[in-house]
Amino acid sequence: MGIFKKLGFGLKKTREGMTGRIEDVLGAYEEITDDLFDDLEEALIMGDVGVKTATDIVEELRKRVDKNEVRNPKHAKLIIADIVADMIDGGEDMGLITIPSVILVIGVNGVGKTTTIGKLAAMYKREGKKVILGAADTFRAAAIEQLEVWADRAGVDIVKHKEGADPAAVVYDTISAGISRDCDIIICDTAGRLHNKKNLMDELAKIYRVVEKELPYADREILLVLDATTGQNAVSQAKEFMNVAELTGIALTKLDGTARGGVVLAIKNELKLPVKFIGVGEQIDDLQPFNPKMFAKALFEDTSSVEEE
Ligand code: GDP
Ligand code: MG
Repeated sequence: MGIFKKLGFGLKKTREGMTGRIEDVLGAYEEITDDLFDDLEEALIMGDVGVKTATDIVEELRKRVDKNEVRNPKHAKLIIADIVADMIDGGEDMGLITIPSVILVIGVNGVGKTTTIGKLAAMYKREGKKVILGAADTFRAAAIEQLEVWADRAGVDIVKHKEGADPAAVVYDTISAGISRDCDIIICDTAGRLHNKKNLMDELAKIYRVVEKELPYADREILLVLDATTGQNAVSQAKEFMNVAELTGIALTKLDGTARGGVVLAIKNELKLPVKFIGVGEQIDDLQPFNPKMFAKALFEDTSSVEEE
């Protein structure tokens, strides 16, 4: 399946939910009125874009409608699609130029960190890059084994210690191995114990110090993984993590099959964090670099008729 078709498929429920509700509102009015704007705001909030972002979209819509003297509610849909495309645009490129570069992957348990790392490893390998993984989620033996399975699947190296080992020591060894094996990209898994904030903060700070000391000039990405099916909860999680880490971007997983894809808008508009990757399934090739234009198109257009690329 081509990537646009797969994205359209993944966003089907969000399109039916959020976009469907927007269309219903627009279809219910003969002309553009204050009531229409209120109903639109509600439809957006129901679509998990969050109150602030819903208000921002409607405010911008008012401006553009006035400016262009739009009278027909049906024409508003295209304007909304444009507003959304502008809103989610920018910052989505990874910018990992140095050799090696480092990606630290953080986030609470179960959001899809390890899976996303496996997919990232496969993606970079396909691009001809040499990748090494560090199993710095040492909290459970199963987490280490799971990353090993993904390393095998992707055909990349992995550095691991025993369960309960110091995560910073794993990161140190992964960096050393990455340098001596001429790797392009070093990706480290981490444990996601947000409920123990002090511990997590100390652990992450220690990991940063290792990266800072061993690779002071390396490009680095601190990727927070969020689960789209949790909707506005994902936004709260991101806020918590922003307090303990200097996030550079988001990987939003499980967009396939959820109606809560509107959360992408909240992440970018409210938190000012770029979404860099989206997960659209459990398989190794089910990760896409985030493409704002394509995302907006898939959200607002019926993609069922799109042909295979
Ligand atoms: P971690 O605890 O953050 O490392 O999360 P895992 O990588 O172990 O993933 C938790 C579950 O989410 C697994 O069952 C994955 O298969 C599933 N998962 C991860 N990403 C996606 C995705 O994009 N789509 C779907 N449908 N499932 C996903
Ligand atoms: Mg994991």
